[in-house]
Amino acid sequence: MPNILLLGGTTEASALARLLAERDVSATFSYAGRTENPRAQPVPIRIGGFGGVSGLAAYLRDHRVTHLVDATHPFAATMSAHAVEAARIAGVPHAALSRPAWRPEPSDDWRSVADIAGAVNALAVPPLRVMLALGRMHADAFAAQPHHHYLLRFVDAPSQPITLPNHSLVVDRGPFGIDGDIRLMRDRGIDLVVCKNAGGSGAQAKLAAARHLHLPVLMIDRPALPDRLEFHRPQDVLDWIDHAASFGNERGV
Ligand code: NAP
Repeated sequence: MPNILLLGGTTEASALARLLAERDVSATFSYAGRTENPRAQPVPIRIGGFGGVSGLAAYLRDHRVTHLVDATHPFAATMSAHAVEAARIAGVPHAALSRPAWRPEPSDDWRSVADIAGAVNALAVPPLRVMLALGRMHADAFAAQPHHHYLLRFVDAPSQPITLPNHSLVVDRGPFGIDGDIRLMRDRGIDLVVCKNAGGSGAQAKLAAARHLHLPVLMIDRPALPDRLEFHRPQDVLDWIDHAASFGNERGV
C-alpha cells in the first residue's frame, strides 16, 4: 500500500493533499514550520526540518514511506536538493510537483536578476517606492539600499523588528486579486515591484496589477534544482503513484 511523504508549503501541495485524502491514500504532509498558523490539511501533518539529508533518509526508512513527493516552493532549493539525495539513499521513488515559471507578456517591463543579491544591487538607483513581494526572509537584505521606501506584505506580523529604515507593512495572507493589488500599488505610489519567479496563479495578481499600471518588475530567477521527475498537476502525481513505471522516463520541467 502506498504511504506518501508530501513536502508542502504551497498551494499545489494542499491540492495534492486533498486528492490523496479523497482517494484514501495514506500520506503525511510536512511543513517547515515557517508560518505561525499553517493551513490545516486533510491528512496528518508533521512540522519542522528533518535534520538534513541523513535525517530525511532515516525518516523515509523509519516511517516506511513508499513515495516522496516534493511540492515545496521553487525557491526552497535546499529542501529540494535534500529530497533528491535522501530518496536516492533510502531507495524511495521521488517526484516533484511544481509550477511552471511565469513568463513576461509583450507589454511587460521585467528585468531579470539571478538572486536576492542581484535584486539588491539593481536598486543602486535614485530613491523609489518599491513593493518588495518577497516574504519576511529576505526583507532585511534590502537595508543595503536604505534610500528607497519599501512596501512589505507578510503572511504574519514579524516577530523581529524589520531593519529597513523606510518601510510600510501590510500583513495579509491572501489570496490576492488583481483589483486589490492595483489599488494597493496605486494608493502607495509604487514605482517598482520586486518579486521571485514563483509561478502559479496564487501570487500572480501583482504581476497583472503591475502590467495594468505600466510598472517595471524586478524578477528574481529561480535557483537551479537537481534533475528530477517533475509534474505540474496533482492528478499526474496520483497517476505516477498508481503507475510509477509508465512515467519512468519523463524528466525535466
Ligand atoms: P529551504 O531553504 O529549501 O529549506 C531549508 C530547510 O528547511 C531544509 O533543509 C529543511 O530542514 C527545512 N524544510 C524546508 N521545507 C520543509 C518542509 N516542507 N518540511 C520539513 N522541513 C522543511 O526552504 P525555504 O525556502 O526556507 O522554505 C521553507 C518552506 O516554506 C518550504 O516548505 C516552502 O515550500 C515554503 N515556502 C517557501 C518560499 C520561498 O520563497 N522560499 C515561499 C513560499 C513558501 P532540514 O534540512 O532540517 O530537513
